[in-house]
Amino acid sequence: MNQPEHDLIIIGGGPAGLTAGLYAARARLNTKLIEKLSPGGQVLNTDWVENYPGFPEGISGFELMDKMREQAERFDLDIAYGEVTSLERKGDRIQINLTDGEVLSKTVIIATGTVPNKLGVPGEEEMIGRGVSYCATCDGPFYRDMEVLVVGGGDTAVEEAIFLTRFASTVHLCHRRDELRATGILRERILSEPKVKIHWSTAVNEIEADSNNQVTAAVIKDLKTDKTFKQPVHGVFLFVGTTPATDFLTGFVELNDRGFVKTDLELATSQPGVWATGDVRSKYLRQIATAVGDGATAAYNVEKYIQEKFHSP
Ligand code: NAP
Repeated sequence: MNQPEHDLIIIGGGPAGLTAGLYAARARLNTKLIEKLSPGGQVLNTDWVENYPGFPEGISGFELMDKMREQAERFDLDIAYGEVTSLERKGDRIQINLTDGEVLSKTVIIATGTVPNKLGVPGEEEMIGRGVSYCATCDGPFYRDMEVLVVGGGDTAVEEAIFLTRFASTVHLCHRRDELRATGILRERILSEPKVKIHWSTAVNEIEADSNNQVTAAVIKDLKTDKTFKQPVHGVFLFVGTTPATDFLTGFVELNDRGFVKTDLELATSQPGVWATGDVRSKYLRQIATAVGDGATAAYNVEKYIQEKFHSP
């Protein structure tokens, strides 16, 4: 991907990146959005979005992201597929290194989001795609009338456990504490969901498989009594938090101790000409609604920066 210089390169095509792209395209900045997979980000793994304003009945994660992409492309945002491996400063420009070339830009918006964490127990890695999953929307329908296990107690685990009740006969939910982290309405729903059995204060120690390499059970430890028991299940869905996708930024912008990008109030990073938006940046609330706000803010600041730095007399 060897190309001429751009005003702005956006890395990542979730809600933050697509919104930044929409605003930048409308500002007539020469912009390219680079996405590794398909535009949409983690929202594509969400069956139904209920807390994004403007959709009183909710909207499917896929449809919402498809509409965001379509809206940005309507204003001629250029979306390209590629994997960014590192960024380098070249004078007052930034070089974006990709697996297949490099691009030069006056500015960059980082919108790479997060990736699901692994639990790190025996059986997990070997059984990915054979009963271990990180996406209920993708794999839930395979478990019709079977027992499945969800691990985690945050918004994702609770939402996905409720989603899985459409297919599974029983959804076991293991949470390491006796209180869910998920927001109030999700707590209410899961507690009144007859197909969900919550195993409070438990940890999954191991995922077991049969000779055909298909998941058969999870070994679960009761953290209050230290006793372990085996729960027969066909599927194990892991939602134990996320890690920012910032490996390619090490040494280029300042990260916090958990790897999220540090920004100021205007979403500028420690590197001049580089902003960070959405879930990848250090902040309190990670939502689609906050990501789109970030995208708009960063694109506006890019426009101002280019005007002042490159077009002022
Ligand atoms: P999260 O909020 O970080 O929750 C992770 C959950 O996994 C927590 O309950 C945590 O337990 C548990 N956990 C972490 N490490 C574990 C381990 N080693 N073993 C067992 N359990 C472990 O992550 P998330 O639910 O993926 O959400 C990520 C962000 O996206 C959040 O900001 C969330 O609000 C947002 N989100 C929002 C929505 C929505 O608004 N509808 C939907 C999905 C996600 P503890 O509680 O004990 O720490």
